[in-house]
Amino acid sequence: MSSDPHSPVFSVLGGEIMEHTEVKVSHCYQCGKCSAGCPLSTEMDYPPSVIMRMLQRGSPEFEEKVLRSLSIWVCLTCEMCFARCPMSIDIPKMMDFLRAKALKEKKASPKAKEIVAFHKSFLDSIRYTGRLYEIGLFADYKARTLKILDDMALAPKMMKRGKLNIIPELIKDRSGVASIFKKTIKKNNN
Ligand code: SF4
Ligand code: SF4
Repeated sequence: MSSDPHSPVFSVLGGEIMEHTEVKVSHCYQCGKCSAGCPLSTEMDYPPSVIMRMLQRGSPEFEEKVLRSLSIWVCLTCEMCFARCPMSIDIPKMMDFLRAKALKEKKASPKAKEIVAFHKSFLDSIRYTGRLYEIGLFADYKARTLKILDDMALAPKMMKRGKLNIIPELIKDRSGVASIFKKTIKKNNN
């Protein structure tokens, strides 16, 4: 770990982020524009500029806080922070990496349990049908969160309006999608 504030990499996690996403946490100069523009910063435990600062500090304690934070799950990947950053730091890309790492190391915040469940259900829907199959996604999400009856009253109305299909629409090249998932899982495990 470097104590030189001009070093291109301040932390172990910062180095991993650079290696996997090309985002250089050391380039952040704490102007705060990302946090000021983030539509969800008030829902986060640490706004994006604070996440950047903790990564720059490079202590294992701060890195652990980042990986266990709610912020990385609350982030919508809306890219507002990226658009506002004078240093063009791709925070959403970095958040993607941090989410994958938190899951892999079983450090995802317990407060983000439902968000994590939604991510998994959404990805399973794409993995098995090649597109979003809403009923499958809802059923999977409810099974994961045990919120079986929540929002059930909406289902008949949505079906009536043709918003929910009973039978999933399958794309032709499902093996292509399966191969993308396989490659991504393999890459994340390395
Ligand atoms: S991408 Fe995430 S961190 Fe950036 S502004 Fe959007 S919600 Fe906030
Ligand atoms: S906008 Fe960019 S430079 Fe400013 S605090 Fe956020 S990440 Fe750092």
